[in-house]
Parts: sequence; C-alpha cells; structure tokens
Amino acid sequence: MKNRLKILDIWVDPVNMDEALACVESFVTKGDRPHVIFASNPEKNFFLPKDPFLYESFRNADLLIPDGIGVVKAAQILHGVRLSRVPGCELMHNICRLSAQRGFRVFVYGAKEEVSREACNKLQVLYPGLQIVGRANGYIKAEGMPQLIEQINQSQAEVLFLALGSPTQEKWLAGNKEKLKTVRVCQGIGGTLDTITGNVKRAPEFWCKCNLEWFYRLAAEPKRIKRQKVLPIFVVRVLMAKLKTVLGFSS
Ligand code: UDP
Repeated sequence: MKNRLKILDIWVDPVNMDEALACVESFVTKGDRPHVIFASNPEKNFFLPKDPFLYESFRNADLLIPDGIGVVKAAQILHGVRLSRVPGCELMHNICRLSAQRGFRVFVYGAKEEVSREACNKLQVLYPGLQIVGRANGYIKAEGMPQLIEQINQSQAEVLFLALGSPTQEKWLAGNKEKLKTVRVCQGIGGTLDTITGNVKRAPEFWCKCNLEWFYRLAAEPKRIKRQKVLPIFVVRVLMAKLKTVLGFSS
C-alpha cells in the first residue's frame, strides 16, 4: 500500500471506509492470492515487535486499517495527516454487505461454537443473499488444522473472517496463509462475532463520538486492563517522538 504511515514501531494505511471497501473489492475480483487485512492499534505497537515472525507478518499485510482512535490521533500529531477511523467490526459488516451484493463466498473461523453459529445466522438475516459457505469455531486443536484448511479450500470461500483475537489470528495467518487456495481476502476481526450476538456490547455512539470507546470497553471488561495499560505509554511516546522532530533531534 502506497503512503503507509509509520506510527512509532507499527504502521497504518491512510484509508477511509469507502477506500478500504474498494481495496477489498479489488482484492477479490483482481487478486490471485490471499490479501491480509489487520487492524492497526496502539496495543500492537507493544506486543508485535517482541515476535519477529508476527511483526513481519503484520508489516507485510496488504491493508492496515486505522481501527483505533490512538493511531488516528498519532497520525495527525506525527505526520499531520487527518485519518478517519475504520473500525474493524464496521468494516466486517460492510464486507458482508458487499459480499451479499457481489456474490462473494464467505467463511467464518473463530469464537465459541454457539457464538459462531448464532453470529452466522444473524449475518445472513442482516445481509440477505450472503453466502456463508462454511464456519468453524476458534477452538480447534493443532491436529485438526489440516482438516480446517481443507474445509476452507473446499468451500471455495473468497473472503475469510478470522475471529481468534490478537495475536492468535495474526499467528494463524502467518502460518497458514500460503495454504489457502481460493481465499482472496482475510480480515482479522477479533471479538466482532461476540458483538453480533450481543454477548459483548459495542460502546454506544456517544462514547465513540467522544473518542472514549476504549474506556467504555475497559469499564465493561476490566480484565482488558492488561492490554490497555500500554495506552498512556503510547501517548507519551508519540508526544516524545513529535517533540524530538520539532527540536530537530530526529530526521
Ligand atoms: N477466541 C478463539 N479461539 C481462541 C481464543 C479466542 O476463537 O483460541 C475468540 C474468543 O472466543 C473471542 C475472540 O477470539 O470471540 C477474542 O476476542 P477479543 O475481544 O479478545 O479480541 P480483540 O478484538 O480484542 O482482538
């Protein structure tokens, strides 16, 4: 992707929702390999660089969407570029709508069995005509992987949603992408299936408008503190990086 922006140790692509969807359409209709879409957010700045294999896989993704407000603000501070958020869960819904319109076949892998089943049913109601040609829960053991790959290939899915959470979905793709024969787009969607079933509530619009979706999620699921405790460090590091540039300490 051209004009990819570096945000501390990670990257983000300067796309809005329409541009992200145009990329998806082009990946499916013109592509001849799986294209990977990951969400770029501050947490990844801290855990990805610790694993060179994962870090490389993230860096080589075809589309890194500005999922969180942290990277949107950082892009503005560090590069003077105003991005609009492309939340991964909204992109997933829009890809489902596009897939229903264009007849793209979809496979959904991840989440608990009952969540997977209910979410797929709901998606088919929400997007009439959506062809979900296969699904699997996210708790398959390593010995079941060859069979899962076979199931995905046999389904002839063009779109694969991976709902395993981070970094499991990034790891799965790094290890299995090359084995996917018909898939042209893979999106890591984390806990989105849980929000479709209503198990996990998305932040109401008010919180999103105030850029406080992260706070709402933290209050709703306090165990996320482990992941979110890096957010203040991210803010400080972005401001330090900006200060260094202003003072002429870095190129
Ligand atoms: N999950 C899974 N297999 C695993 C671990 C997790 O399918 O081995 C699923 C889990 O059921 C949940 C999602 O991955 O649906 C993780 O959601 P989380 O909110 O942690 O992901 P995030 O969006 O924050 O990356």
